[in-house]
Amino acid sequence: MEIAIIAHDGKKADLVQFLNKNKAILQEEKIKLIATGTTGSKAENSGFKVKKMLSGPLGGDAQIAARVAEGKTKMVFFFKDPLSSHPHEADINMLIRVCDVHNVPLATNEATAQLLLDAIAQQS
Ligand code: PGA
Repeated sequence: MEIAIIAHDGKKADLVQFLNKNKAILQEEKIKLIATGTTGSKAENSGFKVKKMLSGPLGGDAQIAARVAEGKTKMVFFFKDPLSSHPHEADINMLIRVCDVHNVPLATNEATAQLLLDAIAQQS
Protein backbone atom coordinates (compact mmCIF):
# COMPACT_ATOMS: atom_id res chain seq x y z
CA MET A 1 0.00 0.00 0.00
CA GLU A 2 1.50 3.28 -1.11
CA ILE A 3 1.16 6.15 1.37
CA ALA A 4 2.26 9.69 0.50
CA ILE A 5 3.74 11.89 3.20
CA ILE A 6 4.02 15.65 2.82
CA ALA A 7 4.73 18.32 5.42
CA HIS A 8 5.00 22.05 5.09
CA ASP A 9 8.12 23.56 6.65
CA GLY A 10 6.36 24.51 9.88
CA LYS A 11 5.13 20.94 10.29
CA LYS A 12 8.15 18.88 9.21
CA ALA A 13 9.37 18.31 12.76
CA ASP A 14 5.89 17.14 13.76
CA LEU A 15 5.78 14.74 10.83
CA VAL A 16 9.19 13.24 11.64
CA GLN A 17 8.08 12.77 15.23
CA PHE A 18 4.88 11.11 13.98
CA LEU A 19 6.87 8.80 11.69
CA ASN A 20 9.21 7.76 14.47
CA LYS A 21 6.30 7.16 16.83
CA ASN A 22 4.74 4.83 14.26
CA LYS A 23 7.94 3.28 12.95
CA ALA A 24 6.83 -0.32 13.53
CA ILE A 25 3.79 -0.14 11.27
CA LEU A 26 5.34 2.21 8.71
CA GLN A 27 8.31 -0.07 8.15
CA GLU A 28 6.17 -3.13 7.49
CA GLU A 29 6.68 -4.72 4.09
CA LYS A 30 3.14 -3.89 2.94
CA ILE A 31 3.64 -0.12 3.27
CA LYS A 32 5.55 1.91 0.71
CA LEU A 33 6.21 5.57 1.46
CA ILE A 34 6.47 8.31 -1.11
CA ALA A 35 7.05 11.97 -0.31
CA THR A 36 7.69 15.42 -1.62
CA GLY A 37 11.42 16.09 -1.86
CA THR A 38 12.37 17.83 1.35
CA THR A 39 9.92 15.89 3.46
CA GLY A 40 11.33 12.69 1.97
CA SER A 41 14.89 13.67 2.86
CA LYS A 42 13.87 14.30 6.45
CA ALA A 43 12.18 10.89 6.62
CA GLU A 44 15.30 9.26 5.14
CA ASN A 45 17.41 10.93 7.80
CA SER A 46 15.26 9.11 10.35
CA GLY A 47 15.94 5.78 8.67
CA PHE A 48 12.83 5.42 6.49
CA LYS A 49 12.91 4.14 2.94
CA VAL A 50 11.06 6.70 0.83
CA LYS A 51 10.49 7.28 -2.86
CA LYS A 52 11.08 11.00 -3.34
CA MET A 53 9.22 13.23 -5.76
CA LEU A 54 10.14 16.83 -6.54
CA SER A 55 9.97 19.36 -3.74
CA GLY A 56 6.41 20.59 -3.19
CA PRO A 57 6.84 24.11 -4.61
CA LEU A 58 8.53 22.61 -7.69
CA GLY A 59 5.68 20.22 -8.49
CA GLY A 60 5.98 17.42 -5.93
CA ASP A 61 2.39 17.79 -4.73
CA ALA A 62 1.25 17.65 -8.37
CA GLN A 63 3.27 14.45 -8.92
CA ILE A 64 1.63 12.87 -5.88
CA ALA A 65 -1.80 14.02 -7.10
CA ALA A 66 -1.08 12.26 -10.40
CA ARG A 67 -0.28 9.02 -8.55
CA VAL A 68 -3.53 9.35 -6.60
CA ALA A 69 -5.42 9.81 -9.88
CA GLU A 70 -3.67 6.77 -11.37
CA GLY A 71 -4.67 4.63 -8.40
CA LYS A 72 -1.09 4.12 -7.21
CA THR A 73 -1.15 6.16 -4.01
CA LYS A 74 -3.83 4.86 -1.66
CA MET A 75 -3.54 7.28 1.27
CA VAL A 76 -2.12 10.75 1.87
CA PHE A 77 -0.74 12.24 5.09
CA PHE A 78 -0.43 15.95 4.41
CA PHE A 79 0.73 17.91 7.46
CA LYS A 80 -0.40 21.32 6.25
CA ASP A 81 0.72 24.50 7.99
CA PRO A 82 -2.42 26.64 8.14
CA LEU A 83 -0.51 29.58 9.62
CA SER A 84 1.71 30.33 6.64
CA SER A 85 1.06 30.99 2.98
CA HIS A 86 2.50 28.87 0.19
CA PRO A 87 3.52 29.80 -3.35
CA HIS A 88 2.08 26.50 -4.61
CA GLU A 89 -1.37 26.86 -3.04
CA ALA A 90 -2.93 25.90 -6.37
CA ASP A 91 -1.09 22.54 -6.35
CA ILE A 92 -2.06 21.91 -2.72
CA ASN A 93 -5.74 22.48 -3.48
CA MET A 94 -5.43 20.32 -6.56
CA LEU A 95 -4.05 17.42 -4.51
CA ILE A 96 -6.90 17.74 -2.01
CA ARG A 97 -9.43 17.83 -4.83
CA VAL A 98 -7.97 14.78 -6.57
CA CYS A 99 -8.11 12.82 -3.29
CA ASP A 100 -11.79 13.73 -3.01
CA VAL A 101 -12.47 12.84 -6.65
CA HIS A 102 -10.94 9.38 -6.16
CA ASN A 103 -12.17 8.83 -2.59
CA VAL A 104 -8.62 8.44 -1.27
CA PRO A 105 -8.17 8.96 2.49
CA LEU A 106 -6.39 12.26 3.13
CA ALA A 107 -5.24 13.40 6.56
CA THR A 108 -4.36 17.07 6.77
CA ASN A 109 -3.35 16.98 10.42
CA GLU A 110 -1.60 14.62 12.78
CA ALA A 111 -4.67 13.52 14.73
CA THR A 112 -6.37 12.30 11.57
CA ALA A 113 -3.21 10.66 10.28
CA GLN A 114 -2.93 8.72 13.53
CA LEU A 115 -6.52 7.48 13.25
CA LEU A 116 -5.93 6.30 9.68
CA LEU A 117 -2.72 4.55 10.60
CA ASP A 118 -4.38 2.88 13.58
CA ALA A 119 -7.06 1.60 11.20
CA ILE A 120 -4.38 0.11 8.94
CA ALA A 121 -2.64 -1.48 11.91
CA GLN A 122 -5.88 -3.17 12.94
CA GLN A 123 -6.23 -4.72 9.49
CA SER A 124 -2.89 -6.49 9.77
P1 PGA B 1 8.72 19.66 0.52
O1 PGA B 1 7.31 20.04 -0.05
O2 PGA B 1 8.59 18.38 1.25
O3 PGA B 1 9.62 19.50 -0.68
O4 PGA B 1 9.16 20.78 1.42
C1 PGA B 1 6.21 20.12 0.82
C2 PGA B 1 5.28 21.17 0.34
O5 PGA B 1 5.53 22.36 0.65
O6 PGA B 1 4.29 20.87 -0.34
